[in-house]
Amino acid sequence: MTKVGIVGAGAAGMMAAISAAKADAQVVLFERTAKLGKKILSTGNGRCNLTNEYISAECFHGAHPGFAMEVLNGFGREETIDVFEQMGICTTTLNGGYVYPRSLQAAAVAKAMIRELERLNVRVICEADGLRIKRRKEGFLIEHGRETYAVERVILACGGQAAPQTGSDGSGYRLAKELGLTVIPPVPALVPLKSSDKCLKDLSGVRVSGRVSLLANGKRVDFASGELQLCDYGLSGIPVFQISGQAARLLMENKTVHLEAELNFAEEFTTEELKHYLDGQIKRRRDVRCGDFLMGFLPEKLGLSLFKRIGVSYDLPAGKLSEKQMKDLIREITAFRVPITGTQGFDRAQVCAGGVDTAQIDPSTMEVKGIPGLHVVGELLDIDGICGGYNLQFAWSTGFLAGKAAAKAGNKR
Ligand SMILES: Cc1cc2nc3c(=O)[nH]c(=O)nc-3n(C[C@H](O)[C@H](O)[C@H](O)COP(=O)(O)OP(=O)(O)OC[C@H]3O[C@@H](n4cnc5c(N)ncnc54)[C@H](O)[C@@H]3O)c2cc1C
Repeated sequence: MTKVGIVGAGAAGMMAAISAAKADAQVVLFERTAKLGKKILSTGNGRCNLTNEYISAECFHGAHPGFAMEVLNGFGREETIDVFEQMGICTTTLNGGYVYPRSLQAAAVAKAMIRELERLNVRVICEADGLRIKRRKEGFLIEHGRETYAVERVILACGGQAAPQTGSDGSGYRLAKELGLTVIPPVPALVPLKSSDKCLKDLSGVRVSGRVSLLANGKRVDFASGELQLCDYGLSGIPVFQISGQAARLLMENKTVHLEAELNFAEEFTTEELKHYLDGQIKRRRDVRCGDFLMGFLPEKLGLSLFKRIGVSYDLPAGKLSEKQMKDLIREITAFRVPITGTQGFDRAQVCAGGVDTAQIDPSTMEVKGIPGLHVVGELLDIDGICGGYNLQFAWSTGFLAGKAAAKAGNKR
């Protein structure tokens, strides 16, 4: 029986433990907090968006983003759903592809996994903070206080440092470095962005559908569409999350980069179509005040703010807008720019971008090339997914593959 030590009992670590134990390994699972699977409880707003019907290479970022699909080709969405069904978790698909447990309860997912660990006799050691891992000629020693555990295989599943209140405090990066791995500096991702633009204070609470583009020194480097949320500190909402990792990385790598978010509040129109529409409105409603002109087209607070930004009085009749003012208005509706000065940090981030460089990892076993017996899984790796269940899917897939490979490798000896 192979002895497998798994460090971290989040999505990836618990899946690794289940998979290794099912393949007849003797598993010890170490968790630094008092509870297993704490982060799973807050996923998908407490509903756990555990995977997605549509998965492709574009859903993942990292220095070697193709690594994610290599992993998922070995153990993907269908296999994951099958494993969950075996644990009694039936799934349902909402929002055009987002997969959830049918009960829409994240707690059910965590609980089912904990019950499975119990059924498979996985030894769980909680409050195991400050672990040290030492390589031996054959296998590893995991030291916790005065206790020492000799194992043949180690699976590092510590997560990143996003939402550290759930346990992932970044100590996995230290453990990885101590074992000789290269770590790409982590930055927060899927996180709200901060802006210094004062007009956002007036717009706090506005939710509007549109597109956000990330501009670096005026050049568009990323974009996403969906519901934008304007906040007193900056921008939030799923499309903002999608571009946030790229923004964080650019800000970290180049302190002098001028980052802006350009919001298009009417992306279904071309500029000409929008002009045509607004001209038509003016013809019909020449006397309407500018303060009321965009009512019904955009949230009221936003409409008012656009006129304020172009210096037009709310009381001016729309029919009196000059050609230049109309041009400015169209620019503000389709290319509303605010400077981006930072992110809301790891505390508010859903994931980390960066982590253990995947060039060092075999995607079929998650084993480190050149360090036999050491596997790395989940968010600790330099892969981050977009919103929609991709991060959990990567955690389940890497965890399952590593657990199975770790158990089998020992059996072969
Ligand atoms: C609010 C929120 C909502 C999210 N919603 C979704 C969603 O709906 N869908 C989706 O796909 N993704 C979502 N994510 C992202 C997803 O939860 C993570 O990517 C995923 O949980 C990562 O799994 P992991 O096991 O690698 O790491 P984690 O879940 O972070 O687990 C790591 C575990 O290791 C433990 N640990 C850390 N260091 C040590 C150490 N040194 N010794 C022992 N134990 C250690 C931690 O305490 C923790 O329990 C969300 C994240 C957040 C914060």
